[in-house]
Amino acid sequence: MDIIRAPRGTRDILGDESWKWAYVTGICRNVADDYGYKEVHLPIFEHTELFCRGVGETTDVVEKEMYTFEDKGGRSITLRPELTASMVRSYLENEMYKGTQPAKLWSIGPMFRYERPQKGRYRQFVQLDIEALGAQDAYVDLEVIDFSMELYRRLGLSNLQVVLNSVGCPKCRPVYRKALQDFLKTRFDELCDTCKGRYDRNPLRILDCKSPICKEITENAPAVMEHLCDECKEHFEQLKNGLDRIGAVVKIDNRLVRGLDYYTKTAYEILSGDLGSQNAVCGGGRYDNLSEAIGGPHVPGVGFASGIERVVLTMEAQGCSFGKEPANKVYVVAAEPEVRMEIMNLVRTLRQNRISADMDYMGRSMKSQMKSAGNFAEYACIIGREELDKNIITLKDLKEGTQEELTLESIISKLKLQ
Ligand code: AMP
Repeated sequence: MDIIRAPRGTRDILGDESWKWAYVTGICRNVADDYGYKEVHLPIFEHTELFCRGVGETTDVVEKEMYTFEDKGGRSITLRPELTASMVRSYLENEMYKGTQPAKLWSIGPMFRYERPQKGRYRQFVQLDIEALGAQDAYVDLEVIDFSMELYRRLGLSNLQVVLNSVGCPKCRPVYRKALQDFLKTRFDELCDTCKGRYDRNPLRILDCKSPICKEITENAPAVMEHLCDECKEHFEQLKNGLDRIGAVVKIDNRLVRGLDYYTKTAYEILSGDLGSQNAVCGGGRYDNLSEAIGGPHVPGVGFASGIERVVLTMEAQGCSFGKEPANKVYVVAAEPEVRMEIMNLVRTLRQNRISADMDYMGRSMKSQMKSAGNFAEYACIIGREELDKNIITLKDLKEGTQEELTLESIISKLKLQ
């Protein structure tokens, strides 16, 4: 019988990689603390309706990519494809609008989308999600974009590009939508099949199409910037000036319309030059109407989500540091098999003193225990009958090749200092 394999688009993050993840998520936490964002843990599954109404019925995510099933109580449940709708739901349900505004929240965890898997694109992937809810101010957009840039700065990433656009609001977007449809009308028959479907339902997404013919058709399409209402224009200017003031190099791209329907005003992405086709390390923007879409009052919000797989891939491609890989400080070697219980006790004592230690459990010879020590640890502690009788331990520095005989207490104080 063949072994059962993990489903397509999922992957196991094993020990040789998970320590890098711990480093990255540790930095995420540090930045969140410094920017005053509080961590929240949200359910992995929600009522399907939350995403249909929040993310938008005509988006790829809702139309094609959700993992939806009926639970045993006959409810339609969906594994979360993104976190923003859940964050807004939680904000409303927990009446966070009664607290200090904006509510600044963050979360990290797995998302699920039925996509075509490739490098940097998975069906289960981990997102860091940052949301500031309850404030209209363009400086909150600035803070959110600055948060993502600071995160990548601390992780040592380079060769990144911040791409910015405004997608307008319910006042000005219909005007732009109409202008775009009018422009596309004459060449409708040449659009790819997907974009023909988008023409009525979601024409802005045509700007985002990767097919060469759609790209060519939209090359001289009217720009959203020229159709923004005064409020959206002012918001964009304030954000752009703020970004200039903090020295952020930003490319304005009128084709940037994000895949999720809820965006209003600010839309942005940060692209990596080292990722190939799946090059967005983060995406986000403002979504002032999401709360109303899921049945709440008007709650403006802005945030971003960053894919941790892509961050780790970019860091690896750029040779960034992940800090120090956890390794055993000490490997305790039994010179004779009958001292194994004493060895076990020594390993426990070292661990209780926060000195990482390990030993052999396979009944190996002293020679192969020393080999393991060389592979896994900085020091070997060697104990046999003779050492036990004299109440000493031989401590061997495996890098230097030197060794000395010490008491347990002096070994602990020596190794704890390092
Ligand atoms: P989105 O929620 O689509 O705005 O995506 C935000 C970020 O999540 C992207 O910039 C990627 O870094 C990451 N991401 C989105 N979809 C996937 C996926 N299928 N696999 C891995 N990372 C993803």
